[in-house]
Amino acid sequence: MAVYIDEDECIGCGTCEEICPQVFRLDTEKEKAEVIMPKGGPEDLIEEAIESCPASCIYEEK
Ligand code: SF4
Repeated sequence: MAVYIDEDECIGCGTCEEICPQVFRLDTEKEKAEVIMPKGGPEDLIEEAIESCPASCIYEEK
C-alpha cells in the first residue's frame, strides 16, 4: 500500500491533515500537503481523507 499526493493539484486546505494527521501533514510554507507515512496508517481515515479532498489529489496504490 502506498499513499501519495499530487502536489500540483493540492490547494493546501488542510483537510487531509485534520482527518488523518498520522499520515498527512500540511506544509504551511509551501501550502501543500505531504505524506509523512506513505506505507500505512489507519485505512478508514486514509479513505475518508481521499474522499474529502476537494482537489481529489490523494491517491492510494494497493
Ligand atoms: S485535502 Fe487535498 S487539497 Fe486539501 S491539503 Fe490535503 S491533499 Fe491538499
